[in-house]
Amino acid sequence: MTDYEAVIGLETHIQLNTTTKIFCGCKADSWEEPPNTNICPVCAGLPGVLPVLNKAAVRKGALLAAAMNAEIRLKSFFDRKNYFYPDLPKGYQISQYDVALGNGGYLNLPMPSGEVRQVNIVKLHLEEDAGKTKMEHGRRYIDFNRCGVPLVEMVTGPDLRSADEAAQYLIRLRQLLRWIGVSEGNMEKGHLRCDANVSIRAAGSTELNTKTEIKNVNSIEAVRAAINKEIERQIVLVESGGRVEAWTLDWDDTHQRLNKMRSKETEADYRYFREPDLLPLELTEEWLQSVLTELPELPLERRARFMNEYDLPEYDADILTGDRPISDYFESTVKAYQGDPKVVSNWIMNEILRMLNELGIDADKLILSPEHLVQVIKMVDEGTINNATGKALLAKVQESGKPPAAIVEQEGLAQVSDDLALGAVIDKVLVEHPDEVSSYREGKEGLLGWFMGQVMRETRGKADPGLTRELLQRALKGEG
Ligand SMILES: [Zn+2]
Repeated sequence: MTDYEAVIGLETHIQLNTTTKIFCGCKADSWEEPPNTNICPVCAGLPGVLPVLNKAAVRKGALLAAAMNAEIRLKSFFDRKNYFYPDLPKGYQISQYDVALGNGGYLNLPMPSGEVRQVNIVKLHLEEDAGKTKMEHGRRYIDFNRCGVPLVEMVTGPDLRSADEAAQYLIRLRQLLRWIGVSEGNMEKGHLRCDANVSIRAAGSTELNTKTEIKNVNSIEAVRAAINKEIERQIVLVESGGRVEAWTLDWDDTHQRLNKMRSKETEADYRYFREPDLLPLELTEEWLQSVLTELPELPLERRARFMNEYDLPEYDADILTGDRPISDYFESTVKAYQGDPKVVSNWIMNEILRMLNELGIDADKLILSPEHLVQVIKMVDEGTINNATGKALLAKVQESGKPPAAIVEQEGLAQVSDDLALGAVIDKVLVEHPDEVSSYREGKEGLLGWFMGQVMRETRGKADPGLTRELLQRALKGEG
C-alpha cells in the first residue's frame, strides 16, 4: 500500500482590532450589537458615497506584514472583487489583488518534534469584510454590521503536512496577532477565520494534486478534525481508484462531518478591477519606519532567546512566551532576582499562572509585582520563611498590595528554624502521641510524615521542613 502525505495550505482572515471600520466611521466591533445597528451609507453600499481609508487599518496591516517577514510595498492598490451574495450590499468587496500591501513572507514554525517548518506566505492583503448571513426556520437573515470591518487576508503556501501542523500554525499565528496587538485573534468570535486547502500525494513526492477547500472551521480543534476527516476521505477515494475533485466542503462541527457545498469557483469569476473610488495606497519611507519601530521582539524569537540566554527547557520557554504580559513579567523578575532563572520559571509556572487563571487577568494587571515576587523568593532562599509560607504569601500580597516583608513581620510568618524552639514543639508532639511513637519505633517509619504534619500544625506551617525532619528523626530514635 502507498504511504500518503497531506499537502495543506491555510487561508486566514484576520479581523484587525481598529476602533472604526476600514472605509467609514462606524464602530468596527459589533459583537454585542443588535443586527443592522452599526451601519452607515458607506458600509451599507448606498449609491453616491465614497470610501475613506482608515489609516489605523493600514498601520496594523503593515505591522502584521512585518511580523510575518513580508516585504511591505510602498505603493499598492485596492481592487474590486465582484460577486453577488445577499450579505454583500455593493455587489463587490473592496480588496487588494495583484499589487497588495504585503509581498512574500514566512513563519518559522517550531514543531513538537523539534523540527522547524518554514511556512511561506503567498498572499497578504487588506480588505473589507462582508455581512453575515444566517439561515433560521427556512428564512435567510442578513446582518450588515460586519460590512466594512478591516481584515487582512493571509494565505500560506502548500507547506503544511498534517492536521497537527495546521493547528500549530494557527496557534502560533493567534499568539503573534495578540502579541503585536493587531487582532484579538478569537476564532469563536470570528476574529480569526480559516479555510483549509487539502490534497494528498505519495509520501516523498513533490507533485501537487487536486485540492479541496474546507470552509467554516471555527476553532483550532475543528481545523484539526476537519483536515483529518478530509485526508482520510481522499486516501480511501484514491485507494479505491477514484479521483479527488476540486470541491468546496463545509465543516459541520455538530456532526463532525464534511458536506459538499459546490464545485469551486476560479479567480476569473470575480472580475477584479482597480477600485476607482480610492487612490493608490502610497506609504512614505518615514511613515513605514515609524510603524516598524513599534514592532516588538516576536514570540518565537523570544522563546529561542529564553532557551539560550536563561538556559530554560523548551517547555518552560514555550509557556513563558505564551503571551506578552507573562513573558515581560518573567523577564523583569529574572533581572531583579539575579539568581537561577529556572527558579523564577518554576515560581511563575506553578504559582503565578495559577493565580492569573483564578483571577482571569493578564500578568500586567497583577498587584503582585515582579519586585514583590523576587522578595518572596529571596526570603525562601534565605530561609526566612519556608516554601509553603512563601506560596501563601503571594496571595496575601496580591490581596493587600502590601510588601511581602511587611506581611511576614505583621503576621509573624517567619520560619521557626531555631533548634531549641523547634525541639520544644517536637517534644510536645511526642509526649502527646505515645502510641504513634511506639509504632514508629517498632518499624512503621512511614509515620514520619504524620509527625511532620503535627509539627507544622503546632507552628502554623512555619517550621523549617528540613530541620524539622532532621530533629524529628533524631527525637524518634531516642537521640533527641
Ligand atoms: Zn459605516
